Amino acid sequence: EAEVHLTGRTRVLTVSNQKGGVGKTTTTVNLAAALAERGARVLVIDLDPQGNASTALGVPHTSDIPSVYDVLIDEFPLADIIQVSPESPNLLCAPSTIHLAGAEIELVSQVAREHRLRVAVDDYLASNPDLLDFILIDCPPSLGLLTINAFTAAGELLIPIQCEYYALEGLSQLLGTVQMIQKHLNPRLQLSTILLTMYDGRTRLAQQVADEVREHFPSQVLDTIIPRSVRVSEAPSFGQSVLAYDGQSAGAIAYREAAVEMIRRDSASNERGA
Ligand code: ADP
Ligand code: MG
Repeated sequence: EAEVHLTGRTRVLTVSNQKGGVGKTTTTVNLAAALAERGARVLVIDLDPQGNASTALGVPHTSDIPSVYDVLIDEFPLADIIQVSPESPNLLCAPSTIHLAGAEIELVSQVAREHRLRVAVDDYLASNPDLLDFILIDCPPSLGLLTINAFTAAGELLIPIQCEYYALEGLSQLLGTVQMIQKHLNPRLQLSTILLTMYDGRTRLAQQVADEVREHFPSQVLDTIIPRSVRVSEAPSFGQSVLAYDGQSAGAIAYREAAVEMIRRDSASNERGA
């Protein structure tokens, strides 16, 4: 088993892609579970009104439950809404509720509307400095104010890319938004990680898409590719990550490898002094 070391600081990653159904939530939840299994302490912030990440982590998120909505709109401290996933004491979730569907509009008239999540995260980390190794933010499928709040709060961008025909379409729009964020709101934001997912090795097309993405982003694409697997798509309906649902499945194994790669790349870049 490869040795991996955590660096002792909190990495904040936003998992974004304005296309829906590309594997953002699946990647957020399963990477978080795999990192937690490795001993990392991980917080998932569910920023999608659909609340699929909260569901998959087995965390209650009915409309009466305090959620990210209360953090963004009513300035609740993040600590007041965080729940522990039944899957692991290392795995925390700031849930989304249906109220978040209104937040996109309500935020427009708020002071510092692009910075509300960043302020909440910074306050939380300041009062809990040694608590977390990772924060993963699951974004909705749009480039609205919720996603902009995630970009502003994060140090890193993780883009899941579905190995299908239109994979690269829309990526330039996403990267344009990232440049705008870097210029005006968050100069720290870096596209650090691309994860190829829903890969069907039987098709030539999937192989071509994977090659094309690697050609464009040689240093960001993880070596690990997440295969298309029924077990991955079944797990959320049991309120579980694929690691808990079927730990020996191809999907679980791939997410574990991706987690190790993420940790290892970070410690390598730290050693180089980057
Ligand atoms: P997004 O959050 O980007 O909208 P999801 O993570 O919800 O995308 O994934 C979209 C759909 O694809 C879901 O039904 C999910 O279960 C399924 N899916 C995601 N990754 C895989 C995979 N590796 N194998 C099979 N199905 C997957
Ligand atoms: Mg989603």
